[in-house]
Amino acid sequence: MLKYEEVLELLADRPEATRTYPVASDLLRRLPLDTSPHLRAMDEGETQELADHLEVPAAAIEGPLRVVDVKCSYCDRVITFLDFVKTAIDDGQHDLAQLREVLTGRNGAWITIRGRDGGRPVRCAGCDRTVDVTRRKGGGEYSEYSSGSYAYA
Ligand SMILES: [Zn+2]
Repeated sequence: MLKYEEVLELLADRPEATRTYPVASDLLRRLPLDTSPHLRAMDEGETQELADHLEVPAAAIEGPLRVVDVKCSYCDRVITFLDFVKTAIDDGQHDLAQLREVLTGRNGAWITIRGRDGGRPVRCAGCDRTVDVTRRKGGGEYSEYSSGSYAYA
């Protein structure tokens, strides 16, 4: 398990490869991720859409759910946590059951730290095209999405 100080070090001096680490459950709340001005809170409808995809009640997902504030430039869909979840499943990085366990907090807390490899691209859940969120990168506190039990930083 990564300690708080170790996470801060990795964010300040990013590793070569993007990787996911288990962390203590209170660590995500201590990180400055959600203070990023580029993250917005997901609304009820968006949370319900994610819950439907995970086949759980919306209340089972550990919030607060936050996501990078960006639209698909092809179909104008506003990107939410769901687009990242669908991309991870479609690419075979995770299966649905795994992500359900993680996002309901039943499998501890996790953080994915973007490496110098540039991280993982996201595809729009509306039109399946790759959405460019890279123009928003640059700050050490940069995050694309986070919940009560998972963050991508
Ligand atoms: Zn789209």
